[in-house]
Amino acid sequence: MLAFALAVGTASVPFDVRHYQLLLQPELATRSVRGEERIDLDLLANGREIAFDAGALQVDEIRLRGRALQFRREDKRLIVDLGVEQPVQRRLSLQIRYHGMPKFGLEFHPEAGEIYTIFSTSQWMVAVDAPSQRATLDLSVVLPNSWRAVGTGDAVLIHHLDRDHDVRRWRLTTPMPSYVYGFVAGDLERAALPENGVALDLLADAAHAQRARTVFAATADVLSFFAEKAGVPYPHRRYSQAVVVDTIGQELAGLSLLSDAYVDDAANGKRTVGLIAHETAHQWWGNAVTCRDWNEFWLNEGMATFMTAAYLQHHDGEAAYVEAVNGWRERIDALRAKGADKPLVFPDWNKPSGDDRAVVYQKGAYFLHVLRGELGEKAFWQAIRDYTRAHMNASVQTRDLQQAMELASGRDLSALFNEWAYGARP
Ligand SMILES: [Zn+2]
Repeated sequence: MLAFALAVGTASVPFDVRHYQLLLQPELATRSVRGEERIDLDLLANGREIAFDAGALQVDEIRLRGRALQFRREDKRLIVDLGVEQPVQRRLSLQIRYHGMPKFGLEFHPEAGEIYTIFSTSQWMVAVDAPSQRATLDLSVVLPNSWRAVGTGDAVLIHHLDRDHDVRRWRLTTPMPSYVYGFVAGDLERAALPENGVALDLLADAAHAQRARTVFAATADVLSFFAEKAGVPYPHRRYSQAVVVDTIGQELAGLSLLSDAYVDDAANGKRTVGLIAHETAHQWWGNAVTCRDWNEFWLNEGMATFMTAAYLQHHDGEAAYVEAVNGWRERIDALRAKGADKPLVFPDWNKPSGDDRAVVYQKGAYFLHVLRGELGEKAFWQAIRDYTRAHMNASVQTRDLQQAMELASGRDLSALFNEWAYGARP
């Protein structure tokens, strides 16, 4: 587990988070949270200051071996003074108490009776956002006892807290990046799905449960398809999907979030199973094989977008794949016409525009389609399997994909990768 901690604040020491343990108390009526958190980490250098991401949370107290530590904020960063210089490789266990009213990252929907996390983990817990930082998670959330909930990791026995509340707990024992941590909880129903080797969960509100059962019926087939393409079985014991009030779709560890509107549109034939496939593809490409930093985000999103089209080709036939490829091509032409085209590997991924996202998603997918055409079916899918197997639960760079494609095809692909991925850069 190598860490590439950001050197924000000149004195911040690089470190490797091993484990987070969190007891979170969200309150629907006030849209607020309280958290009691433990972070276990190893220092990777001598030093006395370390930096976390903490959104807009109000940190009340940080303790190390029972002693209160000084800390300060630098915008969204939380800088912790360890009191004295600590030696490299020292294992530290910090106890943090905080509260706050996250404006995003944790969605409160009192009208629907739902609370769920979305995209920005450091808005509701102190964490390291960098996707290269993988750690295990023990997540407990205090929730109304009438609610159903799913979270990242294996569910542990429910603890009854008082007449109205339970503590729901999940243990994620495979180290994963913090952006795939989260949970969905609410006044939801459980809908059964046909299974094929992987246990499935589907939660939706009463108005959508019946429709969701139909819309998500292909889930087992989606999982088998990607397991075969990846050359690696689905990496968790259970795959949960939750239909929530509002999201564009989000992948978490062993859990995907989709919206009520998606279910309505898919039930009416206005949307395909593509979004289900996209979020499921991330269980391999994104969550398990993770871009080393956000500059190489196309390795998550271009891959998931391409894999969605590959699934639609299998599920709906050749025309569905061709339609997706033509859509990507049109988007790239539009980017080029307005001078917004960029290499897939960004020099920095900071406040990306809609066009930047199109580069990462659609152009990324199209480049994989180009590679598929260049290498042919056998070598291309061999390369995908080799790449996925070699980098499960690890961070990747574009050159890792290039290497797998070159080894499988026996060809030097540097001209293609320079043209599409690196641009003018070597
Ligand atoms: Zn995605």
